[in-house]
Amino acid sequence: MAFATMWELLQNGADGSPALGAPETAALSFKDLRALAADTVATLNRMGIGRNDRVAIVLPNGPEMAAAFLCVAAGATTAPLNPAYRQEEFEFYIADLKSKAVIVQTGDDTPARAAAAKLGVPLIELAPQRARGAGAYALSSSLTGTAATPGFAAADDVALILHTSGTTSRPKIVPLSQSNICASARHIGATLELKGNDRCLNIMPLFHIHGLIAAVLSSLAAGGQTVCTPGFNALKFFAWLDEVAPSWYTAVPTMHQAILTRAERNKESLAKSKLRFIRSSSASLPPQVMQALEETFGCPVIESYGMTEAAHQMASNPLPPRARFAGSVGIAAGPEVRVMDEEGNLLGPNTLGEIVIRGPNVTKGYEANPDANLKGFANGWFRTGDQGTLDDQGYLRITGRLKELINRGGEKVSPLEVDEVVMDHPAVQQVVTFAIPHDKLGEEVGAAIVLREGQSATERDIRDFAAKRLADFKVPRKVVFLAEIPKGATGKLQRIGLAEKLGLGK
Ligand code: AMP
Repeated sequence: MAFATMWELLQNGADGSPALGAPETAALSFKDLRALAADTVATLNRMGIGRNDRVAIVLPNGPEMAAAFLCVAAGATTAPLNPAYRQEEFEFYIADLKSKAVIVQTGDDTPARAAAAKLGVPLIELAPQRARGAGAYALSSSLTGTAATPGFAAADDVALILHTSGTTSRPKIVPLSQSNICASARHIGATLELKGNDRCLNIMPLFHIHGLIAAVLSSLAAGGQTVCTPGFNALKFFAWLDEVAPSWYTAVPTMHQAILTRAERNKESLAKSKLRFIRSSSASLPPQVMQALEETFGCPVIESYGMTEAAHQMASNPLPPRARFAGSVGIAAGPEVRVMDEEGNLLGPNTLGEIVIRGPNVTKGYEANPDANLKGFANGWFRTGDQGTLDDQGYLRITGRLKELINRGGEKVSPLEVDEVVMDHPAVQQVVTFAIPHDKLGEEVGAAIVLREGQSATERDIRDFAAKRLADFKVPRKVVFLAEIPKGATGKLQRIGLAEKLGLGK
């Protein structure tokens, strides 16, 4: 069905079909979700908030967060923020976004309240009403006014604003239109063959593009359901799997790894599992983890390549019977995907270059940032900042983020290549290769490792093991063993800045 706005997208489910769910909670039907969306837009309009007005959302992960995103986006611009931010961070984001209001949960003592008060931005209180179904809520505020452009949003209106997860520079504002996010939901639904009887278990944070679009929006666009947990918890995952009986879930690789470490103790849940497939995205999935997941769950693992600026999905491995390859992020899955050289020329198969994309899901450009737009776009293509190759069959392989490449005295080392080799060491559970500043070489190769429970290995063991398969300059010069590797807010391992965090920087 053609849909280019959130309101149109929400029409895709049958009246009585479940749209949103939560553990131990009755589902909210599509009919009730549509009523909630219409009511939310009318309520916001009475508060003076209309199309393209920005509303920051600071809510705990769960069905209300999903519902607020869907319903507010039906008539205004949503800006979901990480509820774990401190007051100063909230002040930065709420001001940077030019939010007209901030939605917080009644009774939630979030520092966003003080941040909004300091900036003079009004609050809207969201009171969950779980008895009416997962995600149901009521809004209240002292805010009154007349919206300049009331009613449901149009296809070109901005539905969602997120900041890039820039690790080195100031985060950039990414506006995504109603049609951008609808296109992405459609692309993901087509890749995964989502239907009305599919049920996704959401464990991803809902302030990140992955959770918002891949888990929530793609499900609803297909007339199916998303069951929203309070957030990832490896200890609860198998109980949720039993109760919810999802047909799929999507996560970042670190979550899949944590789930695998608990699998041995949960054989009964595994035997009953109804998973049709498992999706992985947002960081590279080590081939060893993909294999272990497929063996453990007995279903295909689909690795996809996503990014905020593309409203998430760019490429994906297809479902069987088509081929999927460990170490590849699959084929173009929505936008066109090509590889480009530094001068802006498109390159042929099997040639290394920067991955570029164009298509209906891609942002028109960063907000108020001509410099970033000049660098970010070339001849109508958006430069992803990722490096990779396309093979003859159109399968994309990512060699790393251009910014993360280690430059060891001019010799370039792809951290992903080193990760992949070290992961094969039997004592290694997790590894992140990163750059360590070096006086003469500029950068040197380091590796942070988490060992498997009850296993041991020395720095020497790891270096010897790596040296069997990697050229000398790629072998980590320094290996550190950690109980846990620092992760970003979305669960991604962070290479940039790791040396400094571990006290190995300058
Ligand atoms: P974000 O905007 O937070 O979704 O991050 C997007 C970035 O994550 C991409 O530009 C890639 O560098 C990385 N990424 C996403 N999916 C994958 C994947 N399957 N393999 C490797 N890197 C990925």
